[in-house]
Amino acid sequence: MSAEAVLLEAAEVRKAYGPTEALDCANLRVRAGEIVALMGPSGAGKSTLLHCLAGIVRPDAGTVRYQGADLAALSDRGRSALRRTDFGFVFQFGQLVPELTCLENVALPMRLNGERSRPAAERAREMLAELDLTDVAAKRPGEVSGGQGQRVAVARALVTRPRVVFADEPTGALDSLSGEQVMQLLTAAARERNTAVVLVTHEARVAAYSDREVVVRDGRTRELEATR
Ligand code: ADP
Ligand code: MG
Repeated sequence: MSAEAVLLEAAEVRKAYGPTEALDCANLRVRAGEIVALMGPSGAGKSTLLHCLAGIVRPDAGTVRYQGADLAALSDRGRSALRRTDFGFVFQFGQLVPELTCLENVALPMRLNGERSRPAAERAREMLAELDLTDVAAKRPGEVSGGQGQRVAVARALVTRPRVVFADEPTGALDSLSGEQVMQLLTAAARERNTAVVLVTHEARVAAYSDREVVVRDGRTRELEATR
């Protein structure tokens, strides 16, 4: 793997919560457009690693570099700006804002980036149409199925055209059919846009959508030999 191609990198990252070593020594390199699955049992440190990579949690030691720049060297403002412009997020329970329609939820990241409401709504509408979600645009999250809600969350994560989407157990609360649909949508849309995806899952079927699997166990990372 050539150094130039690496978009996001964690090197010897450690993070403790009191006596708990959430990350002991984690290493990960993500190239542009690559879909990487972080696998491993509950409590292994997967979410902590994802949060370190996304600049949400600051490691106690080690470095996280995005496009060659150390995230720890950025100001808090710089890191939150980076999260809004370059990163997208999908969580286990969608985390859509219940008071907003699905369309407004998808427009929200653009509004937070200072875009005006009309063009933001227009882009959100296009994004929903592209992902075959026009039917749910006017509905509130409480009025759609879990799978539809997660697909809306995918639309919201991608609408700003981020370079990296972080997805933490995006299918964890879904039945297997809806889970497959969400993974198909997420990976196809990411590939089309050359967006990298860091996917946390403990389901092999979900990890199978990735290019590469990395096992996290007791706060340590290990690359699997087999790649697709
Ligand atoms: P995973 O996502 O693989 O289930 P996590 O990264 O969430 O694992 O957690 C790793 C370990 O760190 C666990 O023992 C967990 O309880 C602990 N941990 C994670 N976040 C916190 C926190 N904010 N405060 C205290 N302990 C935490
Ligand atoms: Mg987790």
